[in-house]
Order: sequence, then C-alpha cells, then structure tokens
Amino acid sequence: MSAPHGGAPGRSHHDEEVLGKAYDARLMRRIGRYVLPHRRLVAGSLALLLLVSAVQLAQPYLIKLAIDGPIASKDPSGLLWIVAAFAALLALEFSLRFLQIYALEKTGQRVVHDLRVEVYDHLQKLSSSFFDRNPVGRLVTRVTTDVETLAEVFSSGVVTLLGDGLKLLGIVAILFWMDVRLATLTVTVLPLLGAVAFLFRIRIRDAFREVRARVARINAYLHETLSGMAVAQLFQRERANDAEFEEINRSHRDADLRSVVYDSIFSSIIELVGTLAVAMIVWYGGGRVLAGAVTFGTLVAFLEYAQKFFGPIKELGGYYSVMQSAMASSERIFALLDTRPEIASPASPRPLPAPASGRTGAVEFKGVRFAYPGGPPVLQGLTFRIRPGEKVAVVGSTGAGKSTIVRLLTRLYDVQSGSIVLDGADVRELELRELRRRVGVVLQDHVLFSGTLAGNIGLGDPSIGRDRIEAAARAVRADRFIQALPQGYDAEVRERGLNFSMGQRQLLSFARALAFDPPVLVLDEATASVDSATEMEIQAALRRLMAGRTSLVIAHRLSTIQESDRILVLHHGVVREEGTHQELLAREGIYRMLHRLQFQQTAAPAGAA
Ligand code: ADP
Repeated sequence: MSAPHGGAPGRSHHDEEVLGKAYDARLMRRIGRYVLPHRRLVAGSLALLLLVSAVQLAQPYLIKLAIDGPIASKDPSGLLWIVAAFAALLALEFSLRFLQIYALEKTGQRVVHDLRVEVYDHLQKLSSSFFDRNPVGRLVTRVTTDVETLAEVFSSGVVTLLGDGLKLLGIVAILFWMDVRLATLTVTVLPLLGAVAFLFRIRIRDAFREVRARVARINAYLHETLSGMAVAQLFQRERANDAEFEEINRSHRDADLRSVVYDSIFSSIIELVGTLAVAMIVWYGGGRVLAGAVTFGTLVAFLEYAQKFFGPIKELGGYYSVMQSAMASSERIFALLDTRPEIASPASPRPLPAPASGRTGAVEFKGVRFAYPGGPPVLQGLTFRIRPGEKVAVVGSTGAGKSTIVRLLTRLYDVQSGSIVLDGADVRELELRELRRRVGVVLQDHVLFSGTLAGNIGLGDPSIGRDRIEAAARAVRADRFIQALPQGYDAEVRERGLNFSMGQRQLLSFARALAFDPPVLVLDEATASVDSATEMEIQAALRRLMAGRTSLVIAHRLSTIQESDRILVLHHGVVREEGTHQELLAREGIYRMLHRLQFQQTAAPAGAA
C-alpha cells in the first residue's frame, strides 16, 4: 500500500485498502462451509455450465458440416436440416444459459442471506468496547458490501472460471482433433498471451486496488460528514468540506482512469493477438485448403473457434480482481465473526431470588477499579452500597465517571478489579438477560427506534402486552400527549425519534423503563432544560417511576437530589462524600462547592437552605 495518509477526515487508513491473494485455500474452505448447504444448486449450475459450453462448441462444427456437406454438394434440403439443428442448438443454449445463471445467482443470494444474518446476529453480541473501536460506517460495510463481494465468488468467480477453463480446454481439443498442424499454429499465440497477461496482471490489480481504496475513502468521508451535517452547516464548514470531497473524488477519478488505461490496453492487446491468430489461420489454413489438405469448412470452423477462444481470455483479468476482493472481504468478515464478545453470560449462571418489592434490588460496588481501553483510570476503588428500595443520587463534576457506574452495573463494560454485587451475586455470575431485566436504565439521550410509539415502550418484548404498555405510559403521564396524536399508540416514530420533543422523548423512555418493571432503576438525568411545565411533569413522572424500587440517579436536578435518601459525591474515582442534602451542605466540602456552582443561580432560595 503506497497511498499517502494525511490527517484530514476520510483519509485515514482503512481495512478496505488491504488486498492480498486472489486465492487462499484457508478462506476458500471456510467459504465452502456456507456453500455446502446449497451444494445441489452449485453442482447443478456447474453441470448446466458444461452443457452450455458443449452446445456452444457444437455450433462452429455444424457450420463446418454445412459447408463441407450440403453446400459443397449443392443439396438445399440437407442444408435446411443443418440450419434447423443450428436453430435448435441456439434455443437450447438460451434455456440452459437462463437456468444456469439463475441457479448460480440463487446460490449467491442464499449465501449472502445466510452470511448477512449471521454477521448481524454476531454484531449484536459484541460488547460496547468493540463498538468504541469500530466506527459504524465500517461495520455497515461488513454487513452490506463485504458480504456481497464474497458472494461474487460464485456468480463471477469460481464457477464461471471453472466453466471457462473447461471451455478453453474443449476448444483446444477440438482444434487438434480437426487438424493437428493448424491447431499447433493457432496455439503458438498462447505464450504471447501468457506474457501479456503476466505483464499486465500486477498493474491492473494495483490499479483496481487503488480504485477500491478510494471508494472506501469516499464512503468514510461521506459517513462522517453527512452524520455531522448540522454542525458543518452551523459552523459554515461546507466550503472546506467541498474542497476536501473534491480532492478525494479527484483522486478516485484519477485512479479509475489509470485502471481504465491498463484495462483497455490489455483488452486491445488480447484483441490484437486474437486477430493475429485469425490472420495466421487464414494465411496458413488458406494454403492448406488450396493444397487440398483441409476442407474449406474446417477452415471456417477454425476461425469460429478462435473467436470463441479469445472471449474468455479477455475476461480473465476481471476474474482475478473479483476473486481478490472476495478474498479480502471474506478475510474481514471472518475476522469479525471470530471476534469473541468480551462480555457474555457465564456457562452456569447464578439464579437470583424472585423480585420482591422492598426485599430485592440491593446493589453494592466493592473496590471497583476501571479504565476504558487505553484510557486513564476512571474509577479507582469505588465502594458504596444501596439497600433495597433506597433512592441514591450520584453527583460529581463532568467526566468524574458517573455514567461509567451505570455502564458497569449493566455490564456494558466489565470492571478491571473489585466487584459489583446485585442481591448477593456478582454481576458477572448472572445471566446477562437476567441482569439487564433487573436493572432498568434510562439514559440521557433518549434513544427511540423507528416504528410505533407502543413498540418503543415495549421494545417488542412478547411478555409486555398492550395493556402493560398503556399502563406504563399512564403512570408517567405520557398518555396525555400520546392520546392527542391521531394514531395514538400506533403513531409512527421516525428515525431517532426526531418527530418528538425532548420532553416527550424523556417521558417515553420513562414509560419504557416502567413497562419492564425492574427492581433496580438506573437513571442518567437529562441535562437539557425543558420548560417549567414539562419539568414539573417530568418530576412527577420520575417520582412514580422510582416508587417501590431501588434507584440510582445521576442527578442534575436539585429536586431529585433533595428527594433522595442519600447522595454520593464522586471525585477522582472514589466516593469522597456521602450523606443527605442537608448533611452535605453543612460540611465545607466538594458537594457544597458543586452545589453552589450548579444551582445557586437557578435555585437560590432552596440552595440557601
Ligand atoms: P460523567 O458521566 O461523570 O460525566 P463518564 O463516566 O461519562 O463521566 O466518563 C468518565 C471518563 O471516561 C471521562 O474522562 C470520559 O472521557 C471517559 N470515557 C467515557 N466513555 C468512554 C469510552 N467509551 N471510551 C473511552 N473513554 C471514555
């Protein structure tokens, strides 16, 4: 890889730029496993391909028969028979070709389907740290383009290559059978073809690789800039973006033109060599016809076969690059499939006591240490305990690690040392589904999915019926705005829930948490301010949401803080202060300072208490 890499967006090094062998036995064996279930189709397609080739190869021979037979002996009825046979062969070729292509594409599409489902299913099992390392754009490429490229191994790779190879052998055999001397002369151009192919192979390959690398760059750039479009527009970065995109596109165009140059020189030379072969056949074969050594029909058939011979050879370069990208794609797909989830359920999970209000939902952090991969320590021996039903607020400056606590408790990440205990069991001993059922989460960014409102509350969980969904929405008073919508609970949620306001999205995610009725609730309070009427609604909804369950709230609102049983002040990765609002205010500590900074202006009377 010689492409320069600058620091500009979209110019970083991508897996997409790496290309290796056109054939890798290890990868082919593994691809083979996906083909195995469809082996009948593949075998059928191959058999059909052989039939198609046979039918094609019979055609020039029929011409020879016509010329040497009925035409030479001036027998119109005999000619009619041969023409009829020729027409029949064409019809047969048409139907066989159709069946063959259909069977082949069907195999390819089935493999695409199976593989795509498998890759997606696997992606869903991978841990948050995996998604931290792998940008979404690249993963989308795995599930779409890479899977399709891999399937091309069938449609225009192995099967066609095999078919064409056999066809070439068949032609050579027929030529030698018809006339050894003329055949020998015809195949003398083969070494010349070999030399040309060898000379151009590497150049064409490199040119194609460059083109693909630049397409990957275009995709990466588009993904990054389109998803950040609003920011680009607000900060008027459009012109700079245009210039960068223009540059990336120019390099793509130039690479494409280079590949076109090599490709067209290559096919012209092949064409030239083919014409040369035809000229030699006419020259030498013509002499032999005049000398009476071969028939005129044989000469014509030779010319026809020579034409059929050079067609597939021109395509060889194409196969090579198809196979090469298929190998590279499969390498990337298999690497993804081989990535083991860092966080998974244990082989024999520990059962938890049945949820019971006031008795289950105890959470304990014991000397938890944690750092994100490659990052500085975030939690450094964090220890605290929450009793069943207790309401605890966590406060701390931005970046103190508050959200990290939520991610660790729900096992989006695992602690590096220490332990997190839920109702007596280390979270790592629990079944992941069980753990995440018990610990309900309301995140700060209220993620909604496209679908209906009801679907966004129940999230397709079969155990959550419509009545439970509606009860949850009623409890957090989300039903008022839902019922005002023409379609009510069946109202459509567009991508990311953009057709709902911040406050509505908050209420919806409360309803979602409530519908799952978890014994423990973890809530990252939204920092975005809403109008005071909505604020009151949200407060009331929160109260109902937390009633009767253990709750751990990353608090940004003074009211939440004042209503909690206890407040933990997180500082430098440990709990530095702990107590009720009043107790902590009475101390000259971090809480008092944080409180003054955060609330004094907005809530001066309460803060002065
Ligand atoms: P808080 O919620 O208190 O604002 P966080 O728990 O979100 O803080 O983050 C704590 C620290 O961990 C911050 O320094 C942040 O930059 C870092 N951090 C958070 N998420 C990630 C991540 N996915 N990868 C790497 N570092 C992260």
